[in-house]
Amino acid sequence: MKSLARILGFDTLGDSYAYRDDPVLGYTSARRSAERWVKSTCGYCSVGCGLELGVRGREIVAVKGWDKHPVSLGKLCPKGLSEHQMISAPNRAKYPLLRGRGGKLAHVGWDEAIGTLVDRFTAVQKQNGPGALGVISTGQLLTEEFYALGKLIQLGFGTRNYCGNTTLCMASAVSGYKRSFGSDGPPGAYEDFRVADVTLLIGANIADNHPILCQHVEANKAGFLIVADPRVTKTAMMASLHLPLKPRSDIALLNGMAHVLFREGLVREDFAAAHANGLEELRSFILARYPVERAAALTGLSAETIADVARRYGRARAGMIAWTMGVNHSTQGAETVSAIANLSLLTGHIGRPGASPFSITGQCNAMGTREAGFTSSLPGYRKFEKKEDREELAALWGIEPARIPDARGLAYPDIINAAADGEVRAMWIIATNPAVSYPNQEQLRRAFRSLDFLVVQDGFHPTPTSEYAHLVLPAAIWGEKEGTFTNSERRAGKVNSAVPPPGEARSDFDIFLAVADRLGRRDELFPGWFKPVDAFNEWRRVSRGRLCDYSGMTYETIEAEGGLQWPYSDGFHGSPASRLYSTARFQFEDGRARLFTVDCEPFPDQPDDVFPMILNTGRTVEHWHTRTKTAQVAILERMAPNAWLEMNSSDARALTLSSHDRVDIVSRRGRVRDVELRVTEITAPGQVFMPFHFFETNGNEVTQDAFDPISREPNFKQCAVRVERSARKQGNTLHGTD
Ligand code: SF4
Repeated sequence: MKSLARILGFDTLGDSYAYRDDPVLGYTSARRSAERWVKSTCGYCSVGCGLELGVRGREIVAVKGWDKHPVSLGKLCPKGLSEHQMISAPNRAKYPLLRGRGGKLAHVGWDEAIGTLVDRFTAVQKQNGPGALGVISTGQLLTEEFYALGKLIQLGFGTRNYCGNTTLCMASAVSGYKRSFGSDGPPGAYEDFRVADVTLLIGANIADNHPILCQHVEANKAGFLIVADPRVTKTAMMASLHLPLKPRSDIALLNGMAHVLFREGLVREDFAAAHANGLEELRSFILARYPVERAAALTGLSAETIADVARRYGRARAGMIAWTMGVNHSTQGAETVSAIANLSLLTGHIGRPGASPFSITGQCNAMGTREAGFTSSLPGYRKFEKKEDREELAALWGIEPARIPDARGLAYPDIINAAADGEVRAMWIIATNPAVSYPNQEQLRRAFRSLDFLVVQDGFHPTPTSEYAHLVLPAAIWGEKEGTFTNSERRAGKVNSAVPPPGEARSDFDIFLAVADRLGRRDELFPGWFKPVDAFNEWRRVSRGRLCDYSGMTYETIEAEGGLQWPYSDGFHGSPASRLYSTARFQFEDGRARLFTVDCEPFPDQPDDVFPMILNTGRTVEHWHTRTKTAQVAILERMAPNAWLEMNSSDARALTLSSHDRVDIVSRRGRVRDVELRVTEITAPGQVFMPFHFFETNGNEVTQDAFDPISREPNFKQCAVRVERSARKQGNTLHGTD
């Protein structure tokens, strides 16, 4: 296994990298000398690294790794190490802005801003029904803010049409866990990467997207790392075995592995029969439909390779399968997660050290909104459709059960479609930037144009999305507010305020309280709440006894331990690396998991003579999502200032293109203009790849609006395109958010 540091070309992923003086960028040791250090948790990705913010006066002047933090062990990636630099970015939103009669946004006071929001939303709802208000939030607020926002939207405004940008990244994992295990909740822990005999990473380029996770993988010297990815990613370069499977053939790989397990007696029949339903149906389906030779034809891998991988996983003492967006960004994402869960259940690789199916989440607190946010589940993973859950929640809040919805409302893409159709007439977008991140931008623009009133609440302005807003609410960001984030391994980390927000910006928490006040519902929704800790203490009570139990945590213990994993009930003193399902009792009423038969279907936007190549979009280590933050960090922007398109040398030769040529990417839906070409063997013939961070050259002008029917997650990963030499230079000028 090669080390990540060697692959990335850094001596080390640690303090030394960011602490080099750089006279060009104006970084000097003197400017960065801190007067005090404030511990916190990184606000970018879901790894949840611990860090310390160096504060000088009212400025954060440095960041360093939190020594001995259980997740990051003192290390940070380039984004974490430079995180403080976005705080003083020139495009921070500082004042509430309201669009006047002349069409211009103008500074107003908070009273007028909040009053206008409440008046316009309630007027729209009075005229068109409560569902005419749609709300789209994020995975980047604090858990306390998600909990408050869920109550405010569902009980205060009475609309169920509330979702988050987490549907663009993790919804398939959520749905897959619910289908297979009866509840959301990643079963494993990072320690599993360190102790698994065999780790299979599918569609997970952690070296770019979750870099500090790599040190746990690298620490596993005896383990065998298999990476299944159509590209030779940096993560694939770390692997003992790379599986360059065809795009969207992961289900065929998983089913082919299951075939070998059944055929060669590697299924733990006692475990699977005792703890899961559907074993015989799955056996018949796999043996009849997915002989390993068929799996080989579908994946492009050899039958011997698939059999080798299946045997290694089946015979392992502890086997782990981890995944991220390569699996989730698919019209079959939830089903693929079920196919992964099948393998865990067939082999008993669950609930033990090194043995887990494990989703690596995207954003720093996507987990918080899943647990507390009232979107895909009721708070505490309670089910909308379960009467007892609604009654229990109502009793905890002292309200009538009838006020709690018995079904979830519209998911993100369905809110957008309803807005385009004129059914959703007002929208509140919080800390996300669909004008870059949403697939099929033309449909999004139709939706925005149809709205009577759009509120954008963000730490930055202008952004491509806030440009559409009738009202902009300036929000505090990471480094300026207090609360908790929960990472991929269910670890709640403390987030602390080191400096005040700029101008008149307020924390999202304070904005939600002010809106509730204006609605006349503050005492009912947020009784006795003044600070995030008040929300946290209520959340502890609401989560008590649930799978995601926070009841034994306090801000003090979370900070002292460098984060605590749930379940953590009152009086809990368990293992520092906890796992779910260690007793193999799952979250269905009968305690048994579910096995699913999953067919491998062709992806929806197939190539043809006109659009012969398959475009894959993804992230790169230097940037975060739509670059609102990282475009403001000079060192990151300097490393990756523009988008690029990766193309195999055989395709480049056929098109008479060379590295650094400017090309357009054209699909059945649109065109991305003037992108730099990189000719590389990283990408296989017939496939191209581009990062999705850049508004100026936005890959989502060509991606499709095809969504998983179960999770509603978009199929970002495969779309048919052709590549042309650019005829002219053209680009947009604004950066994106989140
Ligand atoms: Fe932050 Fe993720 Fe980098 Fe850790 S790996 S420093 S959490 S961006």
